[in-house]
Amino acid sequence: MSRQYHVDGELVDRADATVHVEDRGFRYGDAAFETCRAYGGRVFLWERHLDRLRATCETLGMAGAVPDDLRERVDATLEANDLREAYVRVSVTRGVQPGKLTPDGDVDPTVVVYAESLPRGGTAGDPIWDAPADVRSVGTRRIPDDALPVDAKTHNYLNGILARLEVCGSDADESLMCDADGYVAEGATSNLFFVDAGVLKTPERGTILPGITREAVLEAAERVGVPAETGRYAVDDVRDATEVFLTNTTWELRPVGRLDGTAIGGGPVTDRLRAAYDELVDRRCYDG
Ligand code: PMP
Repeated sequence: MSRQYHVDGELVDRADATVHVEDRGFRYGDAAFETCRAYGGRVFLWERHLDRLRATCETLGMAGAVPDDLRERVDATLEANDLREAYVRVSVTRGVQPGKLTPDGDVDPTVVVYAESLPRGGTAGDPIWDAPADVRSVGTRRIPDDALPVDAKTHNYLNGILARLEVCGSDADESLMCDADGYVAEGATSNLFFVDAGVLKTPERGTILPGITREAVLEAAERVGVPAETGRYAVDDVRDATEVFLTNTTWELRPVGRLDGTAIGGGPVTDRLRAAYDELVDRRCYDG
């Protein structure tokens, strides 16, 4: 059976899963989205993803665009594709509107859900990456909050795409962007952590997408007694760190093997936090 996508309330074959050329998500990137992870058929930290999706829609002036039955659509997509271990992407666009930039207040959103198979997670699982990340710092600056609110996860990924283009042709897996003041912000699709004298550090909110994995890692650090702080840091602080790792929903915690050619890697703090994260996944999704 071909892959089933959920488009505007209907399950359709992948080949028929299309959106209108006048959809504002296509024309302007005028849309919100979430990437979630299903483990054992359950969507991990769904409420947090739903909250962020709703918040993004509110920022975009289309509060209420997220359908009430979104969770059912996600579950139906997983079931129709017989997927228990999966990547799940949910998009809500402002829909088809007349061809002018000013949005129409009357929103009929386009809602798309699709899922792809991933390896099992938790303590008995495997990461989706096969090696630590090779990271390069790039010249592209993270778009500041007063230009595009950083908490919003929109379809417009041109900032990250330009950052990734800078490392195209190299072995790098991720581009590290600084904010407009030159402090480390985040990767094109990941948040950054490093360990300095046993203290876990990560850039503070305000110049980063507040990742759901980042938040779960900060909570895990508190649970297992790893001291943590958020702040503003230079790229050199990260290069001098004993351990560096990246976080996002699909990578979970991914050690950084090299930053700008300097070997770094994981270590005991990263291992402890990875174990705590896997245990959380077990508790939330596999146990019981
Ligand atoms: N920053 C950016 C720019 C991202 O695209 C992502 C991936 N959504 C993240 C951070 C990590 O967020 P999360 O942990 O919620 O996947």
